[in-house]
Amino acid sequence: MTRGALLLTFDDFFVPEWAAAREVVRAHGARVTFFVSDLGRLSRPDFSKLRDLAADGHTIGAHGLHHLDAAEEIARVGPEAYVRDEIAPCLAGLRAEGLAPRSFAYPFGGRSPAIDELLARTFTRLRGGYSAPSDGRQLAEDDGYFIPVSELPSRRLLTAAGADNGRDFRPCGNSDAALLAALRRAADRDEALTLYAHAIAEAHENNYITPARVTWLIEQATELGVRCIGFDDLDEIISPS
Ligand SMILES: [Zn+2]
Repeated sequence: MTRGALLLTFDDFFVPEWAAAREVVRAHGARVTFFVSDLGRLSRPDFSKLRDLAADGHTIGAHGLHHLDAAEEIARVGPEAYVRDEIAPCLAGLRAEGLAPRSFAYPFGGRSPAIDELLARTFTRLRGGYSAPSDGRQLAEDDGYFIPVSELPSRRLLTAAGADNGRDFRPCGNSDAALLAALRRAADRDEALTLYAHAIAEAHENNYITPARVTWLIEQATELGVRCIGFDDLDEIISPS
């Protein structure tokens, strides 16, 4: 019996690192999501690798042309210019490469309900996030990260917790125990848990998650009966009765 869902997501432009972990992310039939930003940094082979990941069943979503904080940028230039210069060209660039982004992740988690309304005209799902509760609670104690599976078809915004276990070549981030407790809650209560990470690497100058932790997360979810799904799978998910 499967209960709950894990939405494992990877942000930014680390396409070579994601592609190198292709076998890792599709272990046990897992599907994950890649939110792509900074298209100008991507090469032709990078786009080919993104198409391979999409062909494996993973979701390719948008993360902005220049990785701008939506709330800050809209305050600066207004919503029309933000959509015109940051969102539309990101979508067009991905579509021109044969990708079909339907979801969007907010860079830096910068959002508001009004911005959600604005972007819901373009995207079926939005992903916010913050690494961990700022008030010292455990991930599993923060209802903001969890959505009942039965409500997923009608929920537009999913809020992710941090799954990276390193930055600037040093370990940091949420502990295995904190992530496992969150996964157990998702299984126990038939809820969806969303996590975000960046490069998949043994070490990296940016935020990174090790291949071993990705494998561990997928294996723990599988053992608990929690499905690993992508954002494009959210409309089809049905909770077992
Ligand atoms: Zn980002």
